[in-house]
Amino acid sequence: MDDTERLNVSGTHHPLLALGPGARLGIWVQGCGLACPGCMSRHTWDPAGGTRVPVADLLALWQRALEQGASGLTVSGGEPCDQPAGLRALLQGADELRRAPTARPAPDGGAPDLLVYTGYEEHELSDGRRAALGPADAVVTGRFRVAEPTDLVWRGSANQRLTPRTELGRSRYAPHLTRVRSPRDVGLQVEVDRRALDGTWPLRLYGIPRRGDLAAWEREGARRGLPVSMPSWRP
Ligand code: SF4
Repeated sequence: MDDTERLNVSGTHHPLLALGPGARLGIWVQGCGLACPGCMSRHTWDPAGGTRVPVADLLALWQRALEQGASGLTVSGGEPCDQPAGLRALLQGADELRRAPTARPAPDGGAPDLLVYTGYEEHELSDGRRAALGPADAVVTGRFRVAEPTDLVWRGSANQRLTPRTELGRSRYAPHLTRVRSPRDVGLQVEVDRRALDGTWPLRLYGIPRRGDLAAWEREGARRGLPVSMPSWRP
């Protein structure tokens, strides 16, 4: 495992319930040049933002999540494949830790899985980017296209493909490839960032909103006298 690498990171969260099966560790990288119109995560675009985190620190989070029975790791962004060395080190290290004899299985009895979101289409993945995906069990590929809404679980637009890459990925994700979101799925997970000390209530939204959800949020906030300021989905 190469844990001397760093990854420019926008944020992390555990337990993440809205991007992949079960309760997961989520890692969002910083930097994306694909600029999809309608992207809800514009705050992750600037490659000069974020925090350069040693992969070893991210793996410590993964180790803790495994000890707490995490079902898997989801890496999103930002664009993970634009940091191929860091992504590769992260996934290789995460793979080794989940295989350790002391590692706990996921709640379904299988190993915790590794899921990566990339805005690149499958055919756009260069050899280097493909190699960076390393032991990822499943990958969601494709730009977010605001004009192509979908109810497919864990995808933001109908063009995006969920592709298993390993035996574990095939067994765990097969039931979800064409499954549409049900009321039991967590579509959008809302967390309050309690570190704010200035009287504001920074909200972090994890997952994939349905079309109109974010505008409805803003309307409801305004109606209650709690206007949403600086949303990450506005220029
Ligand atoms: S949707 Fe994803 S790929 Fe598209 S601009 Fe946003 S972060 Fe980048």
